[in-house]
Amino acid sequence: SDLGSPEPIPDDYFASSPHSNATSRRANATILMLARNSDVDSAVRSVRELEDRFNRNFQYPWVFLNEEPFSDDFKTRISNIVSGPVSFGLVPPDHWYQPDWIDEERATAGRNKMVQDNIIYGGSKSYRNMCRFNSGFFYRHQLLQQYKWYWRVEPDVHFHCNIDFDPFVYMEENDKVYGFTITMYEYHATIPTLWDTVKEFMQDYPEYLDDNNAINYMSDDGGQSYNLCHFWSNFEIASMDFWRGEAYSKFFDFLDSKGGFYYERWGDAPVHSIAVALFARKDQIQFFDEIGYEHNPYTHCPRGEGAWQRGRCSCNPSKSFDYDGYSCMRQWDRIQ
Ligand code: GDP
Ligand code: MN
Repeated sequence: SDLGSPEPIPDDYFASSPHSNATSRRANATILMLARNSDVDSAVRSVRELEDRFNRNFQYPWVFLNEEPFSDDFKTRISNIVSGPVSFGLVPPDHWYQPDWIDEERATAGRNKMVQDNIIYGGSKSYRNMCRFNSGFFYRHQLLQQYKWYWRVEPDVHFHCNIDFDPFVYMEENDKVYGFTITMYEYHATIPTLWDTVKEFMQDYPEYLDDNNAINYMSDDGGQSYNLCHFWSNFEIASMDFWRGEAYSKFFDFLDSKGGFYYERWGDAPVHSIAVALFARKDQIQFFDEIGYEHNPYTHCPRGEGAWQRGRCSCNPSKSFDYDGYSCMRQWDRIQ
């Protein structure tokens, strides 16, 4: 393949390495899952895997969020398998539901068109609520206020390797903001006016653009057009302080005011990715090659020298999404 070799996590971050003080360093972090009560079986499977591969050695607290109260069954089954503290929170209605000022006729027309065009989740209101919540609200939840870092986990994902280093500590000590494992193209039909909106924002607020940003990862013509590359946000290890900061707060409010979360189907993945690529330094974005990760239908399997062996990974390295034609890893490598 034509991909470069990813920069490895240094040895002394691994608990197993001699002279390591890795286990004594901790970050102010939580593992976060948004889920419905009906997701309980698949939520349990994801938690079980991440506990076995990582968290049983670290005992970071888990936070679960839902716009409906979690059932006793959900709470009991999750509490049974976590190694550290766990809390279950309710999303406030004004962080979840479509705001009153959205023109419902226009929103309905937008959904109907997407259904006709066979766009995935095109007709779903709840999916749009979820995307908007994940874009601009989760980090404001009361249960998350005490934390800086989060690891986003979804039901039914897989962790294919041992994670013997603390990715939160690595990010903190190396001044990172956002970590990903899979990057790909977005469906243009879900975000037809997003980039124009982003360009408008950049013109109005040039002061928020970082001088060493990663805009060339998502634009092949210096910012004129969007190449649809984004980080797949069902996996994220990131700083909530970045989302809480002035640049992203203004950015989210600006996007939200255009109504594109409902008139179109703007995803939290392109919204987060574009913001990180514009407002952070490109070296603050971390590709976690070492973390073997699967969300149907794609898997990232470590490709760095010795990483697959070290992590005792169960994934097939030759089937890693990194090499897929639909992957944006080439664009990512291009800007390194
Ligand atoms: P996909 O990965 O884009 O196909 O979307 P998912 O169906 O996996 O949803 C993304 C995340 O949001 C998962 O963690 C889901 O459990 C969660 N989610 C999606 N819709 C809802 C919802 O209506 N309510 C709640 N509480 N969680 C949701
Ligand atoms: Mn998912």
